[in-house]
Amino acid sequence: MLAGSAHSKLMLSKKSLYIYPFILFVSCLFLTFYIDRTYEKKYHSTQIDYLSSREKEITLELDFVMRRELSAVERMGKRWGNNTYTKVTWDLDALAYYNDHDNFQAISWVDRTFHVRWIVPLEGNEKAVNLNLAFEENRRKALIVARDKGTISVTAPITLVQGGKGFLVYLPLEKNGEFDGFISSVFRVDKLFSNFMAQYSEQFNYEVIYDSETIYKKLDRDSYTDGFPVSILGEKWRLRISPKSEDFFVSPFQVFIYPIGFCISLFVAGMSLLLQYSRLKSLQLEEVNEHLVENNRALDLAKQKSEDASKAKSSFLANMSHEIRTPLNGILGAADLAKNCDSLEDSREYNEIIHSSSHALLDIINDILDFSKIESGKLSIENKSTNIPELVKSIYGLMIHVAEEKSIYLQFNIPEDFPQYWLVDSTRLRQILLNLVGNALKFTPEGKVTMEVDAVGDYIKFTVKDTGIGISQERQAVIFDEFEQADTSTTRKFGGTGLGLSISKKLSELLGGTLSIESELEKGSTFTLSLRLEKSVAPKAEEEVDLKTFNGEQILLCEDNRTNQRIAQKVLNKLGLKVDIASDGSEGIKFYHEHNYSLILMDMQMPVMDGLEATKIIRAEDDDIPIIALTANVTTEDNRLCEEAGMNAFLTKPLNSKLLSSELHKWLD
Ligand code: ADP
Repeated sequence: MLAGSAHSKLMLSKKSLYIYPFILFVSCLFLTFYIDRTYEKKYHSTQIDYLSSREKEITLELDFVMRRELSAVERMGKRWGNNTYTKVTWDLDALAYYNDHDNFQAISWVDRTFHVRWIVPLEGNEKAVNLNLAFEENRRKALIVARDKGTISVTAPITLVQGGKGFLVYLPLEKNGEFDGFISSVFRVDKLFSNFMAQYSEQFNYEVIYDSETIYKKLDRDSYTDGFPVSILGEKWRLRISPKSEDFFVSPFQVFIYPIGFCISLFVAGMSLLLQYSRLKSLQLEEVNEHLVENNRALDLAKQKSEDASKAKSSFLANMSHEIRTPLNGILGAADLAKNCDSLEDSREYNEIIHSSSHALLDIINDILDFSKIESGKLSIENKSTNIPELVKSIYGLMIHVAEEKSIYLQFNIPEDFPQYWLVDSTRLRQILLNLVGNALKFTPEGKVTMEVDAVGDYIKFTVKDTGIGISQERQAVIFDEFEQADTSTTRKFGGTGLGLSISKKLSELLGGTLSIESELEKGSTFTLSLRLEKSVAPKAEEEVDLKTFNGEQILLCEDNRTNQRIAQKVLNKLGLKVDIASDGSEGIKFYHEHNYSLILMDMQMPVMDGLEATKIIRAEDDDIPIIALTANVTTEDNRLCEEAGMNAFLTKPLNSKLLSSELHKWLD
C-alpha cells in the first residue's frame, strides 16, 4: 500500500494543474485593466495641468500684447500734455498707430463732456463722431473712473456703435495740469482674440469670459479649466483654452498597455503552468519512489520469509530424515536379528519391534500425505454420525500406555449426560485429539495430562491441558506453522516432525472450528479445540465382515514388488481365493487372455507396462471384469486417474485385510 501523503498530494496537484495558472492569468489581466485605467486618469490630469500652465503662459503673452498696444496710446497722451497736437498731427499719429497695431478697431479723442470729437479711421466709424459716450452706463462708469483716478480704465464688454462686441480703453488726458478729455481705444473682441490666438489655432480652441459670461467662444466642447485672468483688462476678463483634439488626452504609450499586459499575463500563466507541471512530475517521481521503497520493503520481507521458510524446510528435512531413519533402523535391525534367531520368544519380540516401528513409519508418511493434501486443498471431510464419548474413550485407551510408561497421570473428563452422537469426520477428529494428547504426553516429563470435553448447545470444547515444559509467547505465534517446533532443542530431546500442530490447526478449520493455545514456559500448556457440530443419532450397525467367505475363486494380481506379491498372495489365499501373479501390465494382459478370472487386482506403477495402460487395454475388450487398484499412490489425483482408466475401486497399501475383504465381497458375491 502506498504511504498516502505523496499520493493525495499528487491527486490534488493533478486537479489544480490548470487552476493556479488560470487564476494568475485572470489576475494579471485585471491588473492590466487597472493599470490602464489608472494611467489614463493620471495622464488626463497631467494634461489638464499642462493645459492650465499653457493657458497661463498664453494669457501672460496677451497681457504683454495689450500693454504694447496701450503704450502707443500713452505716448499720444504725453504728446497731448505737451500741447503739440493739432487736429491734423493727432490724426496722423493716431493713423500711424492704428496701421502699426492690428488690434485697434479705432482710436478717438473724447472731450471733457464725454463727446467723441476726433476718430481714426473715420471710415466705418462715422456713427461715433460727436457721440456722447455717457449715453450708456458701462462707458460712463469707465470714463468717470479714468477721469477721477487719472489712470487707464477699461469698460465692461459692450456692443460697439460700429457693430460687434468689444470694449473701450480710456486714457485720461491732462493739459496745463488740468483734465482735458480722454484718448479712447476701441477693441473688437473677436478681432483682438482671433489675431492673438492665430498662432495657437492648430493646437487650441479658446473662449473669452467676462464675469462668468462668455463673450466670445471658439470651443466646440466643454472646457477643462477655469480660464486665466487677462490682468491688463481687469480681473474679470479671462481667457480659457481647450485642446482641439481628444487625442490630447490619449497617451501614445497607452495603446501598448493591453498588449504588454496580455503578454505578461500569458508569460506568468505559462511559468506557473510550468512550475505546476514540474511539481506534478516531482510528485509522480515521489510516488514512484514510494512504490519502489514499498516494493523493496515487500521484497525484503518476502526474501526474509523465503529464507526463513527455506531454513525451516532444511531443518524439517534433516529432522524428517532422522524421524524416518529411527523406525527404519528398528525394522531393519529387528529383521536382521530375526534371520538367525532360533528362539520363538525372541522372534516374537523382533516381530513386535518390526510391527510397532512400521506403524511409526506409516504415521509419519500419513502426516506428510495429509499435509500435502491439505496444502493442495484436496483433503475432503466426511461427516458421519460419531459417538464422541466412545471416540474419547478409545483415545484414552491408546494413550494410557504411553502415560503409564512415563508415569504421568492421564485423566479424561466427559460429563455423564454428554450427548453421544454428533455429525463429524471421526477420523480427522481422532487425528487432532491424538496429536494434542500425544504432544501433551511427549512434552510433559512429569505431572499430569487432562482432557475435558464440554458441550454448550451445539458447541463442543475439547481442552487438553498438561503440566509440561510449556511454550514461550514468542514461539506460540509460530508453532501452528508447518515445519516449526517451539525450540530446535525439542527435536533432539523429544523427536517429532513439526507437522502435527499445523495439520491439526488446518483440520480444525476444515471441521469448521478453531484450535487455540495458552501456555507458560515450565508451567504447562492448554490446547483448546472448539467445534460447532450438529447432534445426530446412532448409525446403523455395520455388518461384520467375514474374512473367509470365498470359495476358491480365481483372481489375478498384477504387482511387480516381490515382497508385496508374497504378502498379498498370503492374505488372499487366507481369504480363500486362488491367485495368479503377473509382474507387470503386459504379463497381466497375457494372463487375462489365457485364463478366465473373476477379478483383477492392479498395481499402478510397474515396469514394462503400468497398471493404468493395462487396465485401458483390458477395458477395451471387457466391460464387466472388476478391476481394483492396489497401490501405494494415495492421492486423489491417482484415484481420479484409476477411475478414468476404467478401474472399479481403489485400495491403498499397506494392505488392510479387513478393507480388502470387504471390497472383494462387493465384487465377487
Ligand atoms: P512435533 O510434535 O512433531 O514436533 P507438532 O506440530 O505437533 O510437531 O508440534 C510443534 C512443536 O510445538 C513441538 O515441536 C513442540 O516444540 C511444541 N509443542 C506442541 N505441543 C506441546 C505441548 N503440549 N507442550 C510443549 N510444547 C508443545
